[in-house]
Amino acid sequence: MNKIIKVALDGPSGSGKSTIAKALSKKLDILYLDTGAMYRATALKALKLGIDTFDEKGVLTFIDNIDLEIKYIDGAQHTFLDKEDVSEKIREPQVSMAASNISSLKCVRLKMVEMQRKIASETSCVLDGRDIGSFVLPNADYKFYIEASVEVRADRRFKELSLKGHKVDFEELKKEIEQRDYNDRHRDFAPLVKAEGAIEIDTSFMTIEQVVNKVISFIE
Ligand code: C5P
Repeated sequence: MNKIIKVALDGPSGSGKSTIAKALSKKLDILYLDTGAMYRATALKALKLGIDTFDEKGVLTFIDNIDLEIKYIDGAQHTFLDKEDVSEKIREPQVSMAASNISSLKCVRLKMVEMQRKIASETSCVLDGRDIGSFVLPNADYKFYIEASVEVRADRRFKELSLKGHKVDFEELKKEIEQRDYNDRHRDFAPLVKAEGAIEIDTSFMTIEQVVNKVISFIE
């Protein structure tokens, strides 16, 4: 592919965005940026410092100088915080809720968006997140809004965490996802919305392959 293309994938937690984005980046041979990982790493930093993730004053003490780097190792994204590879650590359940909370702060979003735009500049890429089509890359060539029912999303997350050996309660997980949805949709600054012109795909009863093929069919 010679022309630079930008693909925005937005949607709530567990809708399948990251799996689709990874497959898409492979098929189209373009960069994939998981923007959620950056909010997760920022939340981990606050947790490490003992700063409440809703405390904007506290977060302001470190956000501008946060040592957060995205590197690609054998084609896979790795997230480094203070020079440490935290790619695994940021997937832990307590970091998920902390990331949801800290992402409501405008100072955090402005810093993350600045970094995301820099990474995405001058290269073909697919970004997944909540505000990619509406705020980070409003001029993206293709915008998709990936949905799935809360039950299906909780079930996917339950299986994923169980496989990793985490003991989780399905109902609690579902409640947590609903809370994160609420936070994402109701924050004042750059909330989760279906961007204008975005193509909506409900993945509840689709396989990954079906979704990827559908997305590709729009791009090609
Ligand atoms: O996508 P993931 O679940 O890893 O994202 C972690 C959290 O970061 C989400 O719950 C969401 O609140 C926040 N996020 C965001 N904007 C993005 C990506 C993630 O607010 N572009």
